[in-house]
Amino acid sequence: MNISPQEYSLSPRSSRKGLVLVYTGNGKGKTTAALGLAFRALGWNWSVFMVQFLKGKWNTGERILATHFPFPFEIHSFGEGFTWETRDFERERAGVLEAWTLAEQVIRNGDHDLVILDEINYVLSRNYLEWNTVGNVLHNRPTWMHVLLTGQDAPKAVIEYADLVTEMRSIKHPFDTGIKGQHGIEF
Ligand code: ATP
Ligand code: MG
Repeated sequence: MNISPQEYSLSPRSSRKGLVLVYTGNGKGKTTAALGLAFRALGWNWSVFMVQFLKGKWNTGERILATHFPFPFEIHSFGEGFTWETRDFERERAGVLEAWTLAEQVIRNGDHDLVILDEINYVLSRNYLEWNTVGNVLHNRPTWMHVLLTGQDAPKAVIEYADLVTEMRSIKHPFDTGIKGQHGIEF
């Protein structure tokens, strides 16, 4: 089924109120919920761009799919993986700054309808990046652009600035009973 340009025009940029959305909390589901939102947006012929701040060497199902997905959906990943693995602040910060350089450019260019900054809340909470820098770019983005920020520990300033904040709260996780991360579930 093809989406016609008429259907895309049901939601013209001129009539959109771009939102800042935040998925945070210690429960699983933030990145996968972001991918769900991307799926919905792509259905309306929107263009989606995702920058992953901390996922560099991890091959994930979504990244594999995005490389041959017949829709305008790009995922660009940076960094070494999770901080508790590397524990090398300077190295990780370099990856974060590279990711932010791309994210800033994408937001300023205004070519995409939905921009996802995956794990940026965590990055901000650990002071790899300053909220003022990110907030300033969000503030000056095109009025129709939606931006989704994911990651644990969203700082107060992010929560105050956002239009929507959802907290994923862990009630149970298989890691708690020693079950390791699995393909298709964790990555
Ligand atoms: P997902 O990518 O599955 O939606 P997430 O984005 O909410 O998860 P992150 O904070 O990015 O979670 O953490 C990445 C990994 O940590 C995921 O593989 C996830 O399963 C795992 N994880 C998330 N929450 C918990 C938890 N409460 N206990 C243990 N591991 C967790
Ligand atoms: Mg995540």
